[in-house]
Amino acid sequence: MKKIISGKTIAENLIEKELIPRVGKLRKKNIIPKLVVILIGDNPASASYVRQKEIFAKKVNILSEVKKFDKNISEQKILSEIKKLNNDDSVHGIIVQLPVPEHISVKKILYTIDPKKDVDGFTPINLGKLFLNEKTLVCCTPKGIIRMLEESGENLQGKKITIVGRSNVVGKPVALLALNKNATVKICHSKTKNLSAELQDAEILIVAVGSPEFLAGKDIPKNSVVIDVGIHRKNNGKLCGDIKFDEAIKKVKKISPVPGGVGPMTVFSLIENVIEAAENKYLACL
Ligand code: NAP
Repeated sequence: MKKIISGKTIAENLIEKELIPRVGKLRKKNIIPKLVVILIGDNPASASYVRQKEIFAKKVNILSEVKKFDKNISEQKILSEIKKLNNDDSVHGIIVQLPVPEHISVKKILYTIDPKKDVDGFTPINLGKLFLNEKTLVCCTPKGIIRMLEESGENLQGKKITIVGRSNVVGKPVALLALNKNATVKICHSKTKNLSAELQDAEILIVAVGSPEFLAGKDIPKNSVVIDVGIHRKNNGKLCGDIKFDEAIKKVKKISPVPGGVGPMTVFSLIENVIEAAENKYLACL
């Protein structure tokens, strides 16, 4: 059995098998899914993430547009830009690339984006629907993680899943998704006592701490399936995750690498959400 869960390979296969045919069907009805990304300021990491989204969009033959704004743009201007996009029938998905400058409220952004076009799945309506286990646009990294686990052959029902991290963008929503799949879920965070011991009964371990190589081999449960969400650039220019990969791989049943694990599955899920939003709009008009 392969020990590496390659999110890159899974995403590439799913593009061919699922996304391209879905876009083909929409195009036959003269619908071309379109994503608009609002990019504020000149954060190089954000610019690189946005480029990856554009490359992916091109691969599946959907439209993507990046609207760039100076870092000093007013909050009001950004909110009215979002409202314009909400009312633009040619646009199916809107994202505001985070982080945004401090003078702009993320909360106001999330309360302004039309939930039907919220392909990041961060608006209160879409997070609420996830909580209620209703069909909705689900946030991309958690959705990508669950899909990656399933595609690698893991059935989540009844599995003991431990998540390290409880952010609104990764830890909490991935816990809800796993719960909705009937897993038995434990969430750990910075106030968890004796973290290493808490991890030892996990059959699946999802780590989203945001600290480079935070977990060592000794912390990783034997024979577990491990998903490393973290992504960091080391001083030598190489990327690493939240886990000491070389130590962990000796103990695990399977592990996702960094890079080439969660990252491509996140972008896959975003593009899938844009297609889903376009399909939903078409169905609502029937
Ligand atoms: P975040 O908002 O900083 O949340 C980190 C979480 O880790 C918090 O819940 C925090 O607990 C917990 N934590 C911090 N120190 C801890 C400790 N010593 N022991 C146990 N828990 C601890 O980060 P995030 O947005 O979830 O992202 C996590 C990582 O994933 C980052 O490296 C980010 O870059 C990466 N990421 C990757 C992708 C991708 O597509 N590849 C997407 C999203 C995020 P408290 O709540 O108690 O503070």
